Parts: sequence; structure tokens; C-alpha cells
Amino acid sequence: MTETLPKPSREELSARAARVRLLVFDVDGVLTDGGLYYGAEGELMKRFDVKDGHALVIARLVGLPVAILTARSSTIVEVRGRELGVAAILQGKKEKGPALDALLNQFSIPAESCAYMGDDLNDLGPMSRVGLSACPADAVPEVRQEAHFVAQSHGGRGAARELVELCLKASGRWEDVVGLMKRSESKSSWVGLK
Ligand SMILES: [Mg+2]
Repeated sequence: MTETLPKPSREELSARAARVRLLVFDVDGVLTDGGLYYGAEGELMKRFDVKDGHALVIARLVGLPVAILTARSSTIVEVRGRELGVAAILQGKKEKGPALDALLNQFSIPAESCAYMGDDLNDLGPMSRVGLSACPADAVPEVRQEAHFVAQSHGGRGAARELVELCLKASGRWEDVVGLMKRSESKSSWVGLK
């Protein structure tokens, strides 16, 4: 029903992706599969994807910073974000639109040079502000309708990596990444992969 609205052409999507200088991700349902594992003491675990993690590190290493913006608060996100070298971790932000504005201010980046990936209704605010809005394949219908780019993968299963690849390929940097990875002498540059 909601999939019928027109999406940007391949060329327009590529042009939007090439302009991106900051990648912002929601956490639950985007960097994870949305599962919240609880015990008597509260939240115990989340499940992240190692290939998504690699992509986030690669983005940082080629000069495309990554930020996390989530309405929930968890030490788990702090730990994973630090491990990946994420540039900013904003948690407990129930009003995501204003939080994104603050983030753009902090990085001195115009909204048109920002990409945001979310999966649920509270992501519509930031998605409506940015130059490239994106979502996993299993985002809610209203978000899939709004997004410029709907990944083929689900949240926590490669969707974040698809967005990184889209941006790096559009700006001609993905081939450089692959070339660097092939050369053994460059391996020390990539020890940050998690
Ligand atoms: Mg979410």
C-alpha cells in the first residue's frame, strides 16, 4: 500500500549519497534486529552484526564519521559505539528531530549532507530533515514510504552496511577501500575492524 509512492531515481539517489558527510543511525531495529533481551535486572543484551560493524569502521577510516541517535539508553550501546569508534553517541533522545539538529550543529554539517537511517515512527522527524533518509527492509510502512533508500537487508542484518556502501560507492571511495584491503601491507591500517 505505502510502497507505491515514487522513490528517487538511481541517479538522484547516487547524487544524494555522494553529498553525505555524516552518517547517523538509530540503534534498535537498525543496528540491531530490534530484539531486547531482558532479565530481572533490566536489559541484558542486544544483537549487533559484525559486517555492519566493519562497514561503520570503514566509513570512519575513509573520513565519513558515524553517529548514533537513539531514544533509549543502554550501556550496551555505549560499549559497542566506543568499540566502533563512533564519533557521537546520543542516547535517551525522545525528541529525535531536535537532537539531530544539535548533532548537525556540533559537526557543522548542513542537513543536506547528512544521512539518517531509522526504522520506526519516531525516526520520521530526523528523516524528514536530512539529504538522504534510509531504512531497513523491515522498517514500519510509514518509514519505508518516507525513505529515499530502502535497504534490501533487515535491521541488524546488513541494512547499515548497505547505506555505508551506497555513500562510499557514490563518492568513489568504495573501490579504494577494496583495493586497500587487498594489499597486505595495508592491513595494519585496518586493525580497527570489529
Ligand atoms: Mg528503532
